[in-house]
Amino acid sequence: MTLAGVAVLMLFAVNIVRGWAGEGDPALAPTNAEGTPVAYMTPVPEAAATPPAAASDPAWNETIAMPYDTYFLTQGAHGQSYGHLAVDIAAGNGSTIKSIINGVVSGGGYDVWGNTFIQIENDNYVVLYLHGVYTALIGETVTAGQPIGTESNIGYTLDMAGNSCAGRDCGYHTHLNVYDKRLGANIDPLSLIPASYP
Ligand SMILES: [Zn+2]
Repeated sequence: MTLAGVAVLMLFAVNIVRGWAGEGDPALAPTNAEGTPVAYMTPVPEAAATPPAAASDPAWNETIAMPYDTYFLTQGAHGQSYGHLAVDIAAGNGSTIKSIINGVVSGGGYDVWGNTFIQIENDNYVVLYLHGVYTALIGETVTAGQPIGTESNIGYTLDMAGNSCAGRDCGYHTHLNVYDKRLGANIDPLSLIPASYP
């Protein structure tokens, strides 16, 4: 094993101890004034204002890239109670996050739970990322594999004991949701990307 490999494993071990539990039990999630769970956002976004010319190419819409240079799964499919079928993946605080598709940035900012988000879509998919520091701009066309931000723990993130990581050094991960426009439904992101990479 290379020194870099050892360093990556040590980083993972340290962060596992700190906790990468993701959102944990949705029952613990914030609720609105009526006491019902608050959805992050509508699953079907507005269409991008100016689709790129490449969007007419079927292959352009089907290309998939890895979301990080290296990562692993910290939580399997979850979030159905608020309209997601997302996974949590992690590579460490500050790691570069990449677009998994060619597409247009069609949303971004903060959701109602205080999570940062960015949404990228093409003719086939709407990909939603949460909790990172995102640098791609709304309206920008991004290519699969292009950096779009860095990993963080912004918003509703928990440690492995279920405690909030707000203002704490824990909970770093990306909550990744993929909506398939052709099916009209969210799909398990692990049908497009592996649970760990490489
Ligand atoms: Zn999550």
